[in-house]
Amino acid sequence: MGRKIGSRYTANQILGRGSAGTVWLGEGPEGPVAIKLLREDLSSDQELVSRFVQERTALLGLDHPNVVSVRDLVVDGNDLALVMDLVRGTDLRTRLDRERRMAPEAAVAVVADVADGLAAAHAAGIVHRDVKPENVLLDMQGPLGPGGSHPALLTDFGVAKLIDSPRRTRATKIIGTPDYLAPEIVEGLPPRAAVDIYALATVLYELLAGFTPFGGGHPGAVLRRHVTETVVPLPGIPEELWQLLVQCLAKAPASRLRASELAARLREQLPLLAGMPPLDVDEPGTQAQAAYEEAQAPAPRERVRRGAVPLVPGAKPDSNRDTHTSMRVPAPDELAGGARGTARVPRAAGAPRPGSARNRATARRRRITLGAAAVALIAAVGVGTWAVTSGDEEGGAPSDTKNSVPDTP
Ligand code: ADP
Repeated sequence: MGRKIGSRYTANQILGRGSAGTVWLGEGPEGPVAIKLLREDLSSDQELVSRFVQERTALLGLDHPNVVSVRDLVVDGNDLALVMDLVRGTDLRTRLDRERRMAPEAAVAVVADVADGLAAAHAAGIVHRDVKPENVLLDMQGPLGPGGSHPALLTDFGVAKLIDSPRRTRATKIIGTPDYLAPEIVEGLPPRAAVDIYALATVLYELLAGFTPFGGGHPGAVLRRHVTETVVPLPGIPEELWQLLVQCLAKAPASRLRASELAARLREQLPLLAGMPPLDVDEPGTQAQAAYEEAQAPAPRERVRRGAVPLVPGAKPDSNRDTHTSMRVPAPDELAGGARGTARVPRAAGAPRPGSARNRATARRRRITLGAAAVALIAAVGVGTWAVTSGDEEGGAPSDTKNSVPDTP
């Protein structure tokens, strides 16, 4: 006997657990559904509950083949639940964990689907804010697409926004998942549609490479890399695809493509990618490995500082894949001070490791360049925008304004 959710639904079996709650396989008047029961600390927050109800129209109105539709919102006693279409399949994280890397054609087809879903959301004024492989579901019952890919659907719309109520997060807090956070969020600017494009480009990079461009180590170090580091080319990636990635991972939000353009440009490339095997890229060394290599090859003193420098003193590292609700916005000087070369440089299989003696001279030159670029960037943009955003947020800007889609991307 399942658990009753409101008067119309029954939750029968747990499908998965996420950061905002537990997802159940349930039954409704029109057949099977997925029911996301929000965490108790969220559902007992009166302010959040009223926002949840206000959001109803936007969430319910989003109807697109690449978006997991929200069919109903239930507020019942202590329960706060989103009733969604049931997707019979798996999430993209599970597939990536199994395959490690996807063939470019399949990866591009999946990401083009998600970009189509995002285009519909952005047109409706909704920014997702937490695009990551965990929030992409693959419909195993849908028709097979290019490269044998299943249709991809974006889920968890509106959840990041709900959690991000003004009382829960002040200007000093960040919502999101560190590996996929756009630099402007790290700098404290309000999230616009372009943050989803950055996150989706990060997902595409991860599907191709097996790791994210700026991930690894302490979440604070990851945030800093988004602002200060340049994405390093993936060996063997077709040039046009690489250019698309670079454009969508641009630090300046206005330089990124819109979701509909991204979907179209990705689809244009599909014929060229047909039959191409997964890229042969070695994952950059872990910090432990880098430290070991440092020890093996004595180096000048300044190199010993390599490694993640926490932006939040005393904070413990945790998983970069979880949606964070309590990351602190780093101060500009913390960002500027962090450009000490913690980038994870992808290598063609068999090429020397970034920390090896063979690569030391190049790595050092790169660090100096990036360090200078970071200082210039922070001086030019960071400090100014910081003050503006903090003032705005403390003044209690309505969340709708914060999430609205701008006229320009
Ligand atoms: P997260 O917060 O990590 O994004 P979710 O709470 O959205 O995760 O989902 C947890 C798991 O529940 C997913 O990994 C997926 O396996 C399953 N799930 C979520 N939504 C649906 C759905 N609409 N249909 C089927 N399974 C779902």
